[in-house]
Amino acid sequence: MSSEYNAFITDATIEGDGEGVLSGATVAVKDNISTKDVRTTCGSAMLESYEPPYDATVVRRVLDAGATIVGKANMDEFGMGGTTETSAFDPTENPRAPGHVAGGSSGGSAAAVAAGAADLALGSDTGGSIRNPAAFCGVVGLKPTYGLVSRYGLIAYANSLEQIGPIGPTVESTARLLDVIAGPDEHDGTTRTADLEGSYVDTIDGDVSGTTVGVLRNLTEGSDERVQTRFEAAIDDLRAQGASIVEIELESIEHALAAYYVIAMSEASSNLARFDGVRYGVSGGYDGDWNEAFASTRNEGFGEEVKRRILLGTYALSAGYHDKYYKKAQDARAWVKSDFTEAFTQADVLASPTMPVLAPKIGENLDDPLALYQIDANTVPVNLANVPAISVPIGEADGRPVGLQLIAPAFGEGRLFRTASALE
Ligand code: GLN
Repeated sequence: MSSEYNAFITDATIEGDGEGVLSGATVAVKDNISTKDVRTTCGSAMLESYEPPYDATVVRRVLDAGATIVGKANMDEFGMGGTTETSAFDPTENPRAPGHVAGGSSGGSAAAVAAGAADLALGSDTGGSIRNPAAFCGVVGLKPTYGLVSRYGLIAYANSLEQIGPIGPTVESTARLLDVIAGPDEHDGTTRTADLEGSYVDTIDGDVSGTTVGVLRNLTEGSDERVQTRFEAAIDDLRAQGASIVEIELESIEHALAAYYVIAMSEASSNLARFDGVRYGVSGGYDGDWNEAFASTRNEGFGEEVKRRILLGTYALSAGYHDKYYKKAQDARAWVKSDFTEAFTQADVLASPTMPVLAPKIGENLDDPLALYQIDANTVPVNLANVPAISVPIGEADGRPVGLQLIAPAFGEGRLFRTASALE
C-alpha cells in the first residue's frame, strides 16, 4: 500500500492512448474495476494478486479520451461497507478531516480527488458508495441511472443495484467524466441510451428558477443536527435563487434500509460463490477433500464483514425463508420505486442530506455492524429505485465536510448537474 492518506492500493500508471476531453487529466480507478494486467484486488486478500485479462469498458473509455490512470483506489472489501475500514489494505484517511474516515466504499477514489492525487476518479455505488465518500471528503459524486454506464469489468457485489460513476472536485468536472463513460455498451445488455441533446457539461447553467425541489422530510429529520443546519441553509440558498421548495414524505422510505440489506446480501452470496480458489481467488494448495479446500480458501481469503453477508444472504435465499425475507424485500423495493414515481409528479428533483452523520473517527464504528448499516439510510432508497443522485458539498460542520443529495427521475442527470451547480 502506498500514497498519502492510503488512497491507493496499487500505484499504477496507465497512459491514455487517445486524445479527447480528458487529455492531460489524471484519473483514480476504484479497485473493483478491471484494469488489464494491472492488479485489481476489490480490497480483498482473496484477490491480492489477481490481474484481469481485460479492461472494463469505463477504463477503455477514459483512456481513449486521453486520461492517464494514476492508481487503483482503496475500498471496503468487495464494496461492503461505508468507511473503507473493511479493506484488507487498511483504512483510507479523510484528507479534509484527518483522523476521520474518508467514507466508503469508494473511499480511496474520493480521497484521491480531495487530496489532489488525481483530477478525477471512478467509483461504484451499490447503496451509496460514491455519494457517501464524496460527502465526507467534500467533493462531488454521482450515482448514474441504472443502465446509463456499462458495468462490464466491474467485479459484482449486487448487480441489480449498482452503477459505476464519476467523482470530481466540481460539478462541471464530474459531468465531463460522465460524458466520457455514459452510453450503451455491447458487453453489457442492461445499458441504454439516455435521451439527451448535447453533453452533460452543457446542462450546467446554474439556473434553478422554475425548478421545484422536494425536501424529503423523513430523511432530513433523522440526521445529526449539525448536518440539518447546513442542509436547511443550502435549501434557503436554492429558494433565494428562485427554486420552489415543497415538502415530501415518502412512507416506504422507512423500509428501504432493511430491504436493501436483504437484497444486497442475497445477490452478494450468489456473486461471491466464484471465489473458491479454483475459478478465482488465492488457493491454499490444499489437496484434501474439495469441500474442505473450498472452505479453507474462503475462510482465509474473505474478511469478517464479507463472511457475515454471505451467511445472511444465503440464509435469506434458502428454502423456507425465501418468501419471508427475499420476496418481502422485493415487495418493499417495488413500493419504494412507486413512491419515487409519485414524488416526481410533485417535484423536479428531491433533496436530503447525503449522509445523516458527520464522518466518524477511524475505528469508531468498526465493531458495530448495525451502526455502519444505518449511515446508509439516505442513500440506499435511490439504488432500490434505480434512479440517479448526486452529492454536492455544502460547507463544513465541526471541521468536517457536509454533502447534500439531489435525486432525479431515471435519466434526469442533467437536472442534477444544473441544480447542483447552483449550490457550488
Ligand atoms: N454501505 C453500503 C453497503 O455496505 C453500500 C456499499 C456500496 O454502495 N458498495 O452495502
